Amino acid sequence: MKAIQMTEVKKLHVIDAPMPVCGSDEVLLKIMAVGVCGSDIPRILKFGSHVLPIIPGHEFAGEVVEVGKDVEGWVSGDHATAAPLIPCNECEWCKKGIYSLCEGYKYYGSRNDGAYAQYLAVKAANLVKLDPATPFDWGATIDPAANALHAFYRAEAVPEDTLTVFGLGAIGLFAIQYAKALGMKEIIAVDIQDDKLEVARQCGATYTVNSKKEDAVKALMDHTGGKGTTITFDMSGSPIAQEQAVLAAGKMGRVVFLGISHAPLTLSDKAVDNILRYQLAIMGSWNSFSNPFPGKEWTEAARLMDEKKMNPDLLISHKLPLEELPGIFEKIDQRAIEFNKIMFYPNGPLE
Ligand SMILES: [Zn+2]
Ligand SMILES: [Zn+2]
Repeated sequence: MKAIQMTEVKKLHVIDAPMPVCGSDEVLLKIMAVGVCGSDIPRILKFGSHVLPIIPGHEFAGEVVEVGKDVEGWVSGDHATAAPLIPCNECEWCKKGIYSLCEGYKYYGSRNDGAYAQYLAVKAANLVKLDPATPFDWGATIDPAANALHAFYRAEAVPEDTLTVFGLGAIGLFAIQYAKALGMKEIIAVDIQDDKLEVARQCGATYTVNSKKEDAVKALMDHTGGKGTTITFDMSGSPIAQEQAVLAAGKMGRVVFLGISHAPLTLSDKAVDNILRYQLAIMGSWNSFSNPFPGKEWTEAARLMDEKKMNPDLLISHKLPLEELPGIFEKIDQRAIEFNKIMFYPNGPLE
């Protein structure tokens, strides 16, 4: 089969790889669509992978073509996406059902071969069924959508909440779509790119702020009559936005950090004061899993896509054959491409 192999940082090759062998607890998935995750970019261009050489790629969907002998509930022809984490099921966090914090996990596309390939053998426990009418490239975006939903569950969001999202990558845009699907009336989007703010409005944002052009906190406080929003998400990983997320939260607000910054954070005296006086809860959100594995993040995101209540088409900026993947990463490295979700089709374009 055709696959993309990474041998070292920035070195991607189109290879002819052996067909994966389907284990007794696995299904063989014919990969119909696989997306580039934000995390694939530093993995491939900067830090390298946990294991080398490796076939990267962990946001995928496809068709079941073979079913392992111990697998129940799946037949050839089923459509599925899969959670990329393979939990150890033995550590204290797995035993508590908090799989995002597993201490002995494996991971498709970073510790195990992934889906930048025509086929992948996947643990049946990781599979999430897709309606046959749901496009495979929608299914391949359930990973970032599930990451967005996990942040809402961390914040214990209810429809009466109001929301500000800082950072409009795929997870931020799905957060806006999910807030709308939940029925939230005030959904504020903040980014430094006007085109992303435009997509955010299409996704359901009720008010948008370009924080490069204006003071985001002042703008959204003016807009909300000084109340801020009851939930704020930082999905950018920018320390500036992290502080703004604290300042934008109203009384009893929940502030969720999801974007990775790799940087220190300094908070102004006003921000520190607000944490106390407004009784803010500041929390982290990591990955997308809950009990029973892979969790309601995955099943709920799949249901919303099956019911057309989330629309990944608004996020997919490129649709390409798998062979073009090494060239695309070169362009990303040279900052020669503007993109949102880049999608590859290892078995040809979708019908
Ligand atoms: Zn991902
Ligand atoms: Zn574990």
